[in-house]
Amino acid sequence: MRDSPITATTDFDRDGVQHGFLKLPHSTDASAWGSIMIPITVARNGVGPTVLITGGNHGDEYEGPIALFDLAARIKADELTGRVIIVPAMNYPAFRTGSRTSPVDSGNLNRTFPGHPGGSITEKIADYFQRRLLPLADWVIDLHSGGKSLDFIPFCAAHVLDDKAQQARCVDAMTAFNAPYSVMMREPDAMGMYDSAAEEMGKTFITTELGGGGTARPATVALAKRGISNVLRHAGVMPGAPEHSQTIRLEMPDHRCFVLSETTGLLEVCLELGDVVSKGQTVARIYDTERTGLSPTAYHSPIDGIFTGRHVPGLISVGDMVAVIAVEI
Ligand code: CA
Repeated sequence: MRDSPITATTDFDRDGVQHGFLKLPHSTDASAWGSIMIPITVARNGVGPTVLITGGNHGDEYEGPIALFDLAARIKADELTGRVIIVPAMNYPAFRTGSRTSPVDSGNLNRTFPGHPGGSITEKIADYFQRRLLPLADWVIDLHSGGKSLDFIPFCAAHVLDDKAQQARCVDAMTAFNAPYSVMMREPDAMGMYDSAAEEMGKTFITTELGGGGTARPATVALAKRGISNVLRHAGVMPGAPEHSQTIRLEMPDHRCFVLSETTGLLEVCLELGDVVSKGQTVARIYDTERTGLSPTAYHSPIDGIFTGRHVPGLISVGDMVAVIAVEI
């Protein structure tokens, strides 16, 4: 396979803190010999584990980028044992436009793995992570939130894996992150995800959903910062023990966790995030907006659980995720 067109202006093997770019040539009308410059920080001190931390895999999710631009500005090499690689905004074109997918090629980076070095801009970014950055890492943290269309209770997640020893390492990292909720997660659409790429390489991988709605809140930003520093301590890259407070363990056992809309209209969500919900309880109603006098379509929880995620915009379409229900372990 051909080399990646992306080059890093940082040296991954040098001690110290380097702030640079992943330089991706992109010839446009505005800039004939131009490049997309994806910010990266590499902080290294001697031999030790490598932790790769990313945000902005989807460009409209903000806890990760805020926590990581902050960490990059503060990190000191002499406090480390090993290496931290920080990319606050993976899908940088999407991040710059505040959109989930790329304005350049409509690429959803988290459905593009393993990518292709000769493909679209988003495929080139995926390929660089797949073949250059992931192989450098022992621990991989990818920070997500709900973006403009979803909102979640703040949780850190690990996936159910065939390799139970690897799954146990991921669960330990999730526990160290110590979000208010810790979720054994099922993906509604796992094909092409960065998560799977990291897990298939045997990495210790965790992800988060720390809120959403296309913004970030003080409490969820604080959770992101604290969680990152907890995992760096857990990995032995930073000194000290992780801070610990209570976390509620949840799982997503099967497809009944996801309530999809089969109507288009005006959304009335009936529960607050974090509420206890019983099987059969109405979680949302959707009103026909063409005329008055029609009863709304009610959506019911298929299981007992915790109201974990919801559609954000006031209007909803057929096929949109109405609600996510997770189950306490
Ligand atoms: Ca996301």
